[in-house]
Amino acid sequence: MTRCGWLDCALWGWCRPQPTSPERCVGPWSAGRRWETPMGSHRRKSCRVCSGSDLRSVLDLGAQPCANALPADPKDFETEARYPLELFICEGCAHLQLIDVVDPEELFGHYLYLTGTSSTMRRHFERYAKAMTERCGLAPGARVVEVASNDGCLLAGFQAEGAQVLGIEPARNVAEQARASGVETLSLFFDEDCARTVREERGAFDLAVANNVLAHVDDPLGFLKGLRRLVEPRGRVVVEVPWAGQMFDKLEFDTIYHEHLSCFLAGPLGALIRRAGMAVEEYWHKPVHGGTLRLLLSPSDEGQHAAPFRKLVETENARGLHDTRSWEAFAEKAIGLRDALTDLLENEHEAGRVVAGYGAPAKGNTLLNFCGIGPERLAFTVDKNPLKAGRWTPGSHIPIFPPEVIEERKPDLLLILPWNLAEEIMEQEDSHRARGGRFLIPIPEPRILT
Ligand SMILES: [Zn+2]
Repeated sequence: MTRCGWLDCALWGWCRPQPTSPERCVGPWSAGRRWETPMGSHRRKSCRVCSGSDLRSVLDLGAQPCANALPADPKDFETEARYPLELFICEGCAHLQLIDVVDPEELFGHYLYLTGTSSTMRRHFERYAKAMTERCGLAPGARVVEVASNDGCLLAGFQAEGAQVLGIEPARNVAEQARASGVETLSLFFDEDCARTVREERGAFDLAVANNVLAHVDDPLGFLKGLRRLVEPRGRVVVEVPWAGQMFDKLEFDTIYHEHLSCFLAGPLGALIRRAGMAVEEYWHKPVHGGTLRLLLSPSDEGQHAAPFRKLVETENARGLHDTRSWEAFAEKAIGLRDALTDLLENEHEAGRVVAGYGAPAKGNTLLNFCGIGPERLAFTVDKNPLKAGRWTPGSHIPIFPPEVIEERKPDLLLILPWNLAEEIMEQEDSHRARGGRFLIPIPEPRILT
């Protein structure tokens, strides 16, 4: 492969398209940064939880395109925008965050992630709606609003439980799909102002759900205050966020991408919730998306979080998760994984075996770009989502086909990029296994399953 020849190349010379102009490169780690914050993004100067300014870089994943901006044509490769993807920790409150913020319109204007695509996710949402209806004692006709409601999959679960539902979803194409499937959805970007308007026009809700979105917003405090406004004084709020403790334990650094501005630990998150005038009533750990924290919150000006949540914060602290050195060690392990995975693919290539991908999730794009894996090592990938098939992966420019192509091309090895769905995918691709095909799961360490 041609290396770009730029000494400070953030992708260790494996960047694409080749050759990369110097303006597209950032120096790895702290070495000679020669690249200014590009158009369409800005760099924060302060922590988004405590407003402190003592932010320290722990993991630099290089300059990467937005993980969900899939080029529709090879002509788009040349103009693909890259933004720094670098994880920082706040030395004041231990909040893990990206400080380079890509404009929401760039990220969410045409979002291709449909939650209903995977049957694992669909079953998860049905159980979610049932469990929350019971836990919150929602009577038939109860009013449920979901922020970032995507294709309405979760709200459909609440409808099935007898609730009146409203979705708020900024991606216009996805909101349209939700409406077509019978879920009333407003195409709005949610913030405190939006919450005020919706509350004035629609009245109070019994439950406001924000599922995997709090980590996406640059102002999570304003967002939580907005959720409180939708339900006060007696309703409840449920938020789900990926828990950074699991990211740490399982080396899930690929869940870092531009959309995920915050990687929440219970400690900083608890402090943020209190600042928004709410308290944690109960929390649950969920395995979906590789480790999710679900929190049930209620408006509370004086109260404190329930004892089990306070215990979780203490445990994090005792394990060193609020400590910068622990996250520096995490970064070193991520680099070790990159080397092991690229060596493995190199060996497969030299042995003349064809490796293909399964899936084109955002996390897969972080992994492929960080590891510098392109079509020379991964011939193609497949995705069930009809909005993704026919496009290319951002940055790595691997063609995405529908899953049937696995049968036609019969690759020797399938790299499962959405590793959280590995079991479902391996079951589904049983014919690949039957003809001697193997599976490669990249995280927490590359391992081949036959
Ligand atoms: Zn902070």
